[in-house]
Amino acid sequence: MDLKPEEISSVIKQEIKNYSAKLDVIEAGTVMQVGDGIARIYGLRKAMSGELLEFSSGVLGMALNLEEDSIASVLLGPDKDVKEGDSVKLTGRVARVPVGDSLIGRVVNALGEPIDQKGPIQSSAYRPIERVAPGVISRKEVNVPLQTGIKAIDAMVPIGRGQRELIIGDRQTGKTAICADAIINQKGKDVLCVYVAIGQKASTVARLVKTFEDFGALDYTTIVSASAAETAPLQYIAPYSGCAVAEEWMEKGRDVLIVYDDLSRHAVAYRAMSLLLKRPPGREAYPGDVFYLHSRLLERSARLCSEYGGGSITALPIIETQAGDISAYIPTNVISITDGQIYMETELFNSGIRPAINPGLSVSRVGGSAQIKAMKKIAGPIRVELAQYRELAAFAQFGSDLDKDTLDRLRQGERIVEILKQPQYKPLTVEKEVVILYAVTRKYLKDVNVEKALDFEQELLLYIEARHPEILDEIRVKGDLTEELEANLREAIESFKKETKI
Ligand code: ATP
Ligand code: MG
Repeated sequence: MDLKPEEISSVIKQEIKNYSAKLDVIEAGTVMQVGDGIARIYGLRKAMSGELLEFSSGVLGMALNLEEDSIASVLLGPDKDVKEGDSVKLTGRVARVPVGDSLIGRVVNALGEPIDQKGPIQSSAYRPIERVAPGVISRKEVNVPLQTGIKAIDAMVPIGRGQRELIIGDRQTGKTAICADAIINQKGKDVLCVYVAIGQKASTVARLVKTFEDFGALDYTTIVSASAAETAPLQYIAPYSGCAVAEEWMEKGRDVLIVYDDLSRHAVAYRAMSLLLKRPPGREAYPGDVFYLHSRLLERSARLCSEYGGGSITALPIIETQAGDISAYIPTNVISITDGQIYMETELFNSGIRPAINPGLSVSRVGGSAQIKAMKKIAGPIRVELAQYRELAAFAQFGSDLDKDTLDRLRQGERIVEILKQPQYKPLTVEKEVVILYAVTRKYLKDVNVEKALDFEQELLLYIEARHPEILDEIRVKGDLTEELEANLREAIESFKKETKI
């Protein structure tokens, strides 16, 4: 082969011309101290608050306290893998998680990594876990119902798409059960669900995943879990990760239901982290920004105008109270952030009233405008009748000779209480709720034994489904109870009562 010197020299010249002396300068820091899931790092002057850091062993951290000549970072991986003297580099980004439809049916940790042995998540889209909530301009009125399938809730504390409704109560009062039923009830309703488990036992989460699977709810649900065994920082970021997953769908125009189970543990994890970071403790030893911790999370639930995507995020945060004390620090904070609360009571739960919702203390500040007309018409008197019943019942304990009117009201109250009971995993369609609530509020159960009220409900619904499916269809389609429809319904209930003896 013969080489031409001028060709060689031109190649060399070209190479020299293209050579640039630009070096990638990576600012590296050094770990000064590590322990309790916190690393103190010297250097990294350009670190941003919340920025993701990479330690030489591959463990990720999050920069939180930015001080003059050092920063404190929480570790998102095991702290035994990080040692004094290790180098640390900035990644230039905040923590992010994969988002999109590939997450449906998956169980992931707070970093969006799969923990369900179903292989890697194939997603090209990522979102930062923290984001500024949508502003007022991009929001739309909440006026589409999110049916939970739970009679007591859909009738008395209705929830609209885009609303934030707090579920609050002591331990073991059925808080998780309500949210799980609400998720199960979204089947076939074109609503995607995200369940965020914070600080729970891994076995409890596994059981819930199994339940979702059994009811076919995993086909539209993502579970984000930071179990009690995981570090406080992971529990701290889990709800934000879940919210990022939900936001992606919301912006694509989908309706999403997200459950945060529970935010008390979230606050505790944040408190632990803050104390280790030596941030000054305030009331109940929580750091001063614990209100912001939850407000910035819950504000991200919204119903967007169509120009901004048109979807919605409905949030059901859960708070566990101690001995029914809703005036403690975290409960009052979250009550003031949300659009209403459903208050669950141990006494009700133990006396067999399940779901153990206290109708007096439970409110929904926006959902009423989201109820379908038929439900609105019927459900109105329930709250009042229940309140009257409670008052009378307390009073009637002392006297035996009650007048007929009082006795009637007591009977009616007892039946309403009975009909509002509902077993777990048995959510009802809204048209069935309307039928049974119509029957009880119009006193069709007057002559039915209280113990038989739920049998009456079951039989009546079966009867109407078999003989008059058009009534159910019409309520579903029209959403209203027209006079004609009401007459048909009355007739159906009367003929049911004639044919069946309960
Ligand atoms: P924790 O504080 O432990 O998280 P929780 O308030 O979330 O408890 P759940 O776990 O939902 O409560 O329910 C407590 C128990 O009550 C469970 O065993 C559940 O099966 C039962 N339960 C909940 N709701 C109902 C219901 N409507 N009917 C019958 N049993 C119910
Ligand atoms: Mg629970």
